[in-house]
Amino acid sequence: MPISSFTHGAVDAFRNLGDFASDLGEPTIRLGVTGLARSGKTVFITALVHNLMAQARMPFFDAVAHGRVLRVYLEPQPDDQVPRFDYERHMADLTATPPRWPESTRRISQLRLAIEYETQKFWKRQLGYTRLNIDIVDYPGEWLLDLPLLQLDYSEWSRAALEQSGAANRKEAAKDWHAALTEVDPATPADEATAQRLSDLFKAYLRDARAASHGLSTLPPGRFLMPGDLEGSPALTFTPLDAKGAESFAKGALWAMMARRYEAYKTHVVRPFFRDHFARLGRQIVLIDVLAALNGGKPAVADLERAMTEILERFRTGANSLWSSLFAPRIDRIVFAATKADHLHHTSHDRLQAILALLAEDAMERANYAGAEVKALALAAIRATREGIAKKNGESLPCIVGYPLLGEMIGRRHFDGSEPFAIFPGDLPANPEIALRHPHAQPDDVRFVRFLPPDPIKLPAGGFAPFPNIRLDRALQALIGDRLA
Ligand code: GDP
Repeated sequence: MPISSFTHGAVDAFRNLGDFASDLGEPTIRLGVTGLARSGKTVFITALVHNLMAQARMPFFDAVAHGRVLRVYLEPQPDDQVPRFDYERHMADLTATPPRWPESTRRISQLRLAIEYETQKFWKRQLGYTRLNIDIVDYPGEWLLDLPLLQLDYSEWSRAALEQSGAANRKEAAKDWHAALTEVDPATPADEATAQRLSDLFKAYLRDARAASHGLSTLPPGRFLMPGDLEGSPALTFTPLDAKGAESFAKGALWAMMARRYEAYKTHVVRPFFRDHFARLGRQIVLIDVLAALNGGKPAVADLERAMTEILERFRTGANSLWSSLFAPRIDRIVFAATKADHLHHTSHDRLQAILALLAEDAMERANYAGAEVKALALAAIRATREGIAKKNGESLPCIVGYPLLGEMIGRRHFDGSEPFAIFPGDLPANPEIALRHPHAQPDDVRFVRFLPPDPIKLPAGGFAPFPNIRLDRALQALIGDRLA
């Protein structure tokens, strides 16, 4: 046996022993669900919980497929300081008449799901293990961007942030902020109005830069884009400044005030998040709107690759810096999931998955990543479309049919949410290399509109039928299947 696999095995055994020890009270998995804004976190968690509780058919989730899951229910959330994921409200939205999509993730939240099951393992039976708690932790992917800040002091960060803002694809978005900076001397006495104005312009730049890159690539500070409960707080009222001559600035200078706030942000916002939440995760799913990236062309795909590399760097155990190794979670499985696969005909689902797998492979290579098992899959947590065949010039073409939301447009056509529309999403290329390296070579008609959620089906016995979905069961198997063996 090669030494490396022996040592890996030994490390795993210790880890499992650790899990086992921490599980002695009650077996519990902390499952992180993350992704950038609108990647589909809220919909994913709501659908996952509802479909498990409503006993959906899940042919690829072994424990359910083999009839070993006896009961699934919500339990009180064990961490008092963390808001509870508002499952009931999100369900109320999705089952309203007409149904609507729930409000998206804006801050961290948590939900405990208990699964009672029949184990196949002798030792678990002896120990009376019949229940697994899953603590689902929903948090904005934007917050992961902040880890590198812990290694930078204010002048290093200022320099780096100013340099990044001068890049060709960001300069335009940063124009107003740059102009304001040239009029301000960092050595002048601090005043709140100037701090506020500069910070607002800096935030506007971060938002515009994100919009210009189709929402995939973002720059820290993460809370500037996704403030959570800190919206409007002075902890978020700072901006990088020109660091020239900073050593000689007085204590009362604008520079000193900004440096203090930057340090406070690291101490009171960044560190507690990584220490109290991130480092405690055991499994992680990262949701990605890959189709939006493909639609955005080459720069958006390049941004997505960078973002995935950065995310993997956060999960790298034993990485080179002290902070990152302290905060690296003991995650042993990471799933990257391309969401909203219901925008494609099923003939393209495997292709979407292959594209994401290739992206993940490249990202792992670049991040020099070794550690947790990484999987890639394509899914739709809630399927809002059905498939059909449409005739066009005598040819039969596979299409998807859904109700585009009020305000959506395709070409010059505006939708009001009341009529179904057939879309030819176009095939993704069979070769994932082509999709990634030449995304502009795609037919323009890999179109994107937001669809109305499907009509909820009321059950005679009360409650609602499971949501139609694509491959939600495979995601569950990849994330927690082994723990229900
Ligand atoms: P979050 O910001 O990551 O919490 O994203 P959400 O879960 O709120 O999803 C953002 C939007 O994406 C929703 O309002 C839906 O329009 C769309 N969406 C999310 N998941 C799906 C899905 O499985 N299918 C479809 N068709 N749309 C989805």
